[in-house]
Amino acid sequence: MKRMWAAAKATGLAAFIMACCTPATHAAEHPAAVDQARLLRANREPGNWMTWGRTYDEQRFSPLKEINDKTVSRLGLAWYLDLNTYRGVEGTPIVVDGVLYTTSAWNITYALDAKTGKQLWKFDPEVPAVWGRLACCDIVSRGLAVWQGKVIIATLDGRLIALDAATGKPVWSVATFDQSAPYTITGAPRVFDGKVLIGNSGAELGVRGFVTAYDASTGKQLWRFYTVPGDPKKGFENAAMEMAAKTWHGEWWKQGGGGTVWDSIVYDPSLRLIYLGVGNGGPWVQEYRSPGGGDNLFLASIVAVKADTGEYVWHYQEAPGDEWDYTATQPMILADLKIDGRTRKVIMQAPKNGFFYVLDRASGELLSATKFAPNYWASHVDLRTGRPVINPAARYDLEPILMTPAPPGAHNWNPMSYSPITGLVYFPVQEVWLPYSRDPGFTPTEGRQFRSNTGWGGTLGEAGRIATELGNSRGHAWLTAWDPVRQREAWRVDYPSRGNGGTLATAGNLVFQGTVNQTVAAYRADTGAKLWEMPVQTIPVAGPISYAVDGEQYIALSAGFGGGNAMLQEIRTTTSRKRADGRLLVFKLGGKAELPPLDEAVPLPPGPPAVPRVSEDVIENGNALYHRICAGCHGIRAVSSGVIKDLRHMTAETHAGFDDIVLRGVRERLGMASFADVLRPEEAEAIHAYVIARANEDWGRDTSRGDTPPR
Ligand code: CA
Repeated sequence: MKRMWAAAKATGLAAFIMACCTPATHAAEHPAAVDQARLLRANREPGNWMTWGRTYDEQRFSPLKEINDKTVSRLGLAWYLDLNTYRGVEGTPIVVDGVLYTTSAWNITYALDAKTGKQLWKFDPEVPAVWGRLACCDIVSRGLAVWQGKVIIATLDGRLIALDAATGKPVWSVATFDQSAPYTITGAPRVFDGKVLIGNSGAELGVRGFVTAYDASTGKQLWRFYTVPGDPKKGFENAAMEMAAKTWHGEWWKQGGGGTVWDSIVYDPSLRLIYLGVGNGGPWVQEYRSPGGGDNLFLASIVAVKADTGEYVWHYQEAPGDEWDYTATQPMILADLKIDGRTRKVIMQAPKNGFFYVLDRASGELLSATKFAPNYWASHVDLRTGRPVINPAARYDLEPILMTPAPPGAHNWNPMSYSPITGLVYFPVQEVWLPYSRDPGFTPTEGRQFRSNTGWGGTLGEAGRIATELGNSRGHAWLTAWDPVRQREAWRVDYPSRGNGGTLATAGNLVFQGTVNQTVAAYRADTGAKLWEMPVQTIPVAGPISYAVDGEQYIALSAGFGGGNAMLQEIRTTTSRKRADGRLLVFKLGGKAELPPLDEAVPLPPGPPAVPRVSEDVIENGNALYHRICAGCHGIRAVSSGVIKDLRHMTAETHAGFDDIVLRGVRERLGMASFADVLRPEEAEAIHAYVIARANEDWGRDTSRGDTPPR
């Protein structure tokens, strides 16, 4: 107990205990009255959750403890909000002075009474449905920001919009990228010191990554930092780009190079730095991106820039010469850790590549990098050079190499949390195996096409098929409690499949998480013992938050399955496969609300049509085209978790209208726009033949998921 109190004092918790009961400001008159002073002292307002990670260090740790390891058994549903979408909901809500703000699929944004759930306003930015096909990993948004009476959202089609927090009406709006390129935004904007920062996505489609800082009051652009160099003939934007260009070869800029900052951006007020989590290379295959190799800075790196100017300070590259989609975009947490007897200001990340990194965040010095999941890619990270010792076989070519971690990552975007009391970091881990190989038929994309620009051919041919099936039969998932000082797992909770949600740690000795078993669960933060679990009819993948209104503590969570995991593979659960639409769920002690019964599942069609009488070559061409163009949403080998249509389960009507859907966009409003710009009619026909062949292969096996039509 003494130790816990010492830890609490060290992390500033003592201050909130003194200050927690000061009355809230008058929310009704001045909603979202959040400024730099309040955000710097966010720990003194445990009842509010004012930024994406609650505090600037993004620990996602709530000092509230009315709900704790003794009382959590009485936790029940206080209220819920139907989000009217079957697509993924990944957003972290924000709560300020009794008002909850949240954003859902297609960036539809809500302000709600945090105590009752009563809707105060709703804003639909009317993202054109055609943008659905540019989002690699579902039409999600991971959150929003508030600043001085404004709610700031970033839309899939690249607008940064400030809404009046009182009315939900736009105050200013800026286009953050050239809409003729295949960029999208799914990440949450971060605000600090009067600025709002946003990155983007699209490295799978052929873009050049960057982040931009805007004035939070006016939307005026303040600075921009590119993460990969552009065409040297046009001149470099800064010395960092000139340095980075020395690590690239060929004409990488023609395909953008990738390096999108699509999720993690952390502000550090003590060092006045911004840390950027930079994504994978575009194309994935280095031979197609930077022939002859090179580290390709700043792909798969954490980059520190000055908060005021965006000027480069340091970088640490996790996957030099990335060709595995090993993004360093996963959530980052700042903390003070005692390492080898010395207190260090660290930044921590558990990225896709399966190593848990601890860096000194003032200098970028690597302090430790330890495997948290099985890893075929690299034996270890050399602490002297900071470089991974990569398995030579991982540098793949035409022969498929079955590897883990795979593109979905050993840990993806699902938020992790850190408890300064236990000293543990909590995050969902997944062991995913997929084959990597080079697609010899790769052709680069042009303009705003949807065509995978990865050059990945892992599923192609007979060898690819066998490797993919073998990969699918392997792997599992768990929640880990990771000790970043001792560099080992303190405890874990096993799950039947990947797809589990982000975490919240609390001072009540609890960790909350949504699970693939269609539940929300609470575990003891120190031991992992399960203390509470409630069925919620869906798989919540987002990160939970906690807040208080009138002295009563709540747990809130966006609950809806979707996102990258849902796009790429079927998900095994121990419960019914039928799922509810997305909701915002809010829990409190003694909560008595109940979810309505699930709708009946839509019955599957009686069986697939006969495989068309075409040559094997046509079906193999359909396979290649399917994986370049369709698999990102409809799943590898046409196996889908059902968030987006499992094409093996098409009805007779859909089969009959296949060309109208694929080439004429008759289902554009459902997010399925025309692909006539990248597919000729005979190519659409080959894809259709491949999908029918896959349906026939799998028919009668246990592959149906009772999926519901997407909205
Ligand atoms: Ca990626």
